[in-house]
Amino acid sequence: MPTMKLAILDRIGAFQPEGEDALVPAQDWQPQPGVVEAIAQLNRAGWHVVVATNQPGLGRGSVDVNELNALHQRMHRELALAGARVEAVFYCPHAPDEGCHCRKPAPGLMQQIAARYGAEPHEIWVVGQDRQHLEAGAAVGAHLLWVEQGCGGTMPDLPLSATVKRHADWPALAQALAPAQAEEQERPAAQPISAPQPVVH
Ligand SMILES: [Zn+2]
Repeated sequence: MPTMKLAILDRIGAFQPEGEDALVPAQDWQPQPGVVEAIAQLNRAGWHVVVATNQPGLGRGSVDVNELNALHQRMHRELALAGARVEAVFYCPHAPDEGCHCRKPAPGLMQQIAARYGAEPHEIWVVGQDRQHLEAGAAVGAHLLWVEQGCGGTMPDLPLSATVKRHADWPALAQALAPAQAEEQERPAAQPISAPQPVVH
């Protein structure tokens, strides 16, 4: 059986600038430059891509679950238009003082995802900019990837045992994980992944 390839992204840094923690309204959803194309490139190479996010506003009552669902629907729709797919969004709905096991940097959310996919730690790549996200990945023994784009070049402090690979931006990350083949680059970028492929002689 081929090795599974599972990328776990964070909301922060992928779909919202680093440092802005508050949830944006669905109409203001704005992916960071290159992230949608990077996800599409991973998908084409057989990667599963999911998002893991802390949503303490749900626990505090400042965010409504319908609001969150609307944001995720917008995300799925926009990604689909570019031939990209995030298979699921896993979130911790608890406030920090609830002492749950799923709020990153606790490993619970990552463990849930691994269990859902039946993925071993070496089959999981945790990608992000936020310390809590990477630390949760480190706790489950996943590969850790830090994307420098848009966050000032300061890699977060992590436990000494964690090895973090650095990528300058989303295109570089996609190219490292899922090198585009010449044949793929010749295809029109906007082609849906489900469309029948032309026969190449
Ligand atoms: Zn939680």
